[in-house]
Amino acid sequence: MNDPRKDVVEEARWAAEHGFDFLDLTIEGPAAALEQIDVVALKQVLNEAHMQVVGHTAWFLPFASPVGRVRRAAVEEVAAALPIFADLGVKLVNVHIVRGVGSFGYANMLALNGKSFAELAELAEPHGIRIMVEHPPESGLHVDDIRKILNADARLGFHLDVGHANVGGDRLEVLLKAFNQRLCHVHVSDNRGRSDDHMPLGAGSIDWPKVIHLLKKSGYDGTITLEVFVQDRDWLLHSAEKLREWWADK
Ligand SMILES: [Zn+2]
Repeated sequence: MNDPRKDVVEEARWAAEHGFDFLDLTIEGPAAALEQIDVVALKQVLNEAHMQVVGHTAWFLPFASPVGRVRRAAVEEVAAALPIFADLGVKLVNVHIVRGVGSFGYANMLALNGKSFAELAELAEPHGIRIMVEHPPESGLHVDDIRKILNADARLGFHLDVGHANVGGDRLEVLLKAFNQRLCHVHVSDNRGRSDDHMPLGAGSIDWPKVIHLLKKSGYDGTITLEVFVQDRDWLLHSAEKLREWWADK
């Protein structure tokens, strides 16, 4: 995934030079917002390296805002990115389940997330894009809650984040069991179960060989993004090497 604080073309070039199969393209500020992306230059780098692209959107868009105009603006922001994603050959775009406003109630938060994502599923279809819903690191959001959100539209896919599934207790098996039919894409990063630290694989408490085994058992054979956020990218490259090793092993 490109670091949204850096120039996206440079980020894509780095990924291409280091043997990544695809770019998890996040369109978000501070440096990779829609208006800041040089699509022509980005396309050139990606095409030259034969890299695929998976779509990613800002995690902080207020999809569950009880203020209708604010919620619709969040939907519009992703909708505005859809033609760019389509131009880059993207078939999957993620959105993040977000918190609402407590006083409006929990059911309202679930309903508004679902409503926003259903609207996006409809807007994405003409572009040949499927919207996939990523679950947050909060352990309080249960499988049934995620199911309610996904049920807002049959076209919505499930986007698993293995790091998120480890915060506050291991929920990976439960999530895979519940949503393997709708699983579209996977994010991986390590943590120690307390917060979403985005550490290199093997640096935290996640049992990676077990994770890969469970993923394979679920029938998943799609793309995996290393959402490893580190100062020294050797740790990211090491994580990629380990992941390939574990995948070949299991
Ligand atoms: Zn993620």
